[in-house]
Amino acid sequence: MTVDHDTLFIDGDWVAPSTSTRITALNAATEDILGTAPEAGEADVDRAVAAARTAVDGSEWSAATPAERAAAMNRFADELEQRSTELTRTVSQQNGMPIGLSEAFEGGFAIGLLRYYADLAATMTVEDIRPSQTGMETVVRRSPVGVVAAIVPWNYPVVLAMSKIAPALAAGCAVVVKPSPPATVLDSFILAEAAQAAGLPPGIINWVPGGPDVGAYLVSHPGVDKVAFTGSTAAGRSIATACAGLLRPVTLELGGKSAAILLDDVDMDAIMANLQFIAFMNNGQTCVTCARILAPARRYDEIVDALATQVSSLRVGDPLDPSVDIGPMATAAHRDRVESYIEKGKGEARLVVGGGRPKAFDKGWFVEPTVFACSSNEATIAQEEIFGPVLTVIPYDADADALRIANDSVYGLGGTVFSADTERAKHIARQVHTGTIGVNGYPLAIGSPFGGVKDSGIGREFGPEALNSYLNLKSMYIAGPA
Ligand code: NAD
Repeated sequence: MTVDHDTLFIDGDWVAPSTSTRITALNAATEDILGTAPEAGEADVDRAVAAARTAVDGSEWSAATPAERAAAMNRFADELEQRSTELTRTVSQQNGMPIGLSEAFEGGFAIGLLRYYADLAATMTVEDIRPSQTGMETVVRRSPVGVVAAIVPWNYPVVLAMSKIAPALAAGCAVVVKPSPPATVLDSFILAEAAQAAGLPPGIINWVPGGPDVGAYLVSHPGVDKVAFTGSTAAGRSIATACAGLLRPVTLELGGKSAAILLDDVDMDAIMANLQFIAFMNNGQTCVTCARILAPARRYDEIVDALATQVSSLRVGDPLDPSVDIGPMATAAHRDRVESYIEKGKGEARLVVGGGRPKAFDKGWFVEPTVFACSSNEATIAQEEIFGPVLTVIPYDADADALRIANDSVYGLGGTVFSADTERAKHIARQVHTGTIGVNGYPLAIGSPFGGVKDSGIGREFGPEALNSYLNLKSMYIAGPA
């Protein structure tokens, strides 16, 4: 049974699209049609931005008390909870995400974001009084930045939409979300149904599914006040350029090539579960994946062997099967891209395991989990983001060498340091040039800022820092009675 949508969710209602173009969503594991949806055109973006503008300027939402906004956000979270099975299965079928991860992230983490920012909204200080050197009062007032264009990729379509929607709603903004079809689009209709059922005021969230052209049109739209983008570094640069010309605030969550640094005292058995998680999370289709494994030279062969044994044992298959470790790539085009990197790697490094397509499937965009032993961090497979289940194991001599290699990347997003000695690992972690870093694991936290440095982005999501980025600050200097 396919799920077919004929309308778009704009201004609190389901409306006919301005185009007759249809998006077809395919099951990444079977290549069957999952459903279809309309593609938004420029007229739909105009309508969505106008609805958001009216919603935010009309003040019902932006002038609501923080407690009222929090209540509405919690109703939205309740409605999502009721739909979480449908939502998480839809994501897994579209982009190949193993169902356990989908339940934890696209379900639990995304709903957690809404509830976290609802709590922050409820306790937000709208105005506070600052001391002034004049002896008079200054009032610092926080107001919503206005209309937010949220552009998301396909790898975590719900979490990455919600990491923008939740702080924006908490701040009192209205949002126009552009999902990333054809890989992921059906999930956005489930979010819209939940928003409508929660009774969010019309125009507060609108969805305009479409490709990069629709995204570019939205980014430069005169009615937009802020852009929040997650995606590739190349698209991020193009969006940053557009926003620079408009002097429009923008946050950019971009690509990565993070390193897992294995210090020379690691117990491979003890770290393997956490290492596997951060190296292969969502089949490697994760921005913070540790695709580079830095191994001490004197234990290099032992570590490569341990990884080879582990990776050979991973179960590849239908992501809806809870025993499966590695699902398919999200699209045929993305599978081709990952395979082209594997071919490149065969000329640069020693292929240890994987490197082909699993023979068990005649349908679906599967890639064998792959390990390369690579002597140089200069190799393409050590420098460029592959975004698939492909690890590059690189030797190093001493801790300082490991740090040098970890930091020898245009990216600066994540990473994890593994050691039997937590303090030693923390000492190294402090010196890695990234926006986030794990110590003996990578338990991503909603309350702490997430983002990158260097080519991995500008700005932060999660935590109170993200809420601040959806607020304008105004200082009112009070001179007393006139
Ligand atoms: P992508 O950049 O191709 O597309 C991302 C989104 O941007 C899509 O919705 C796309 O339609 C839109 N888009 C593309 N070009 C645009 C333009 N010029 N103007 C406006 N919109 C445009 O990325 P992708 O392949 O969908 O996603 C994978 C990338 O996302 C990887 O590089 C990954 O590292 C990155 N990512 C980063 C984070 C993070 O938090 N840092 C999280 C997840 C994914």
